Amino acid sequence: MNHPRPSRRPERLVMDRAGIGYDSHRFADGRPLILGGVAIPAERGLAGHSDADAVCHAVIDALLGAAGAGDIGTRFPDTDPRWKDARSLDMLRTVVAELGASGIRPRHVDVTVILERPKLADFKLPIAASLAGALGLHPGSVSLKAKTNEGMGFVGRGEGIAVLAVATVEGP
Ligand code: MG
Repeated sequence: MNHPRPSRRPERLVMDRAGIGYDSHRFADGRPLILGGVAIPAERGLAGHSDADAVCHAVIDALLGAAGAGDIGTRFPDTDPRWKDARSLDMLRTVVAELGASGIRPRHVDVTVILERPKLADFKLPIAASLAGALGLHPGSVSLKAKTNEGMGFVGRGEGIAVLAVATVEGP
């Protein structure tokens, strides 16, 4: 019995992959609110070992996921004093450079920030531009959205922030 021959592999070896990232941080007094490397005027900032930039952390995990390269907790352990109060935008740059050394580069990133306040309307473009700079992408390839949680759960009670990110990468 004749079986159809398997189709030839495509000549193009570059593959697109997608990864998802999630992060959450608790609000804390006396801390800055840094999102995507941008300082946001706010009554409270976010608690964390680094600068607690939940946007950068979610994007890092999305990139690492797309690359099949582990997660942020493995790459930047919070027991390591090197990352104490580290700028997370620099951590993102480090990950982009490390992936780049393997021939993997970001193509597009989409982020949703979930928090009750402050409102991020005036900061969406600056945050997207900041992320794009660290990712080596055109600002049009980075999407930043913000929404509330309609008063529900830890976000709704103003206890913290949650961030979702999806990244696509190309590479071998
Ligand atoms: Mg985090």
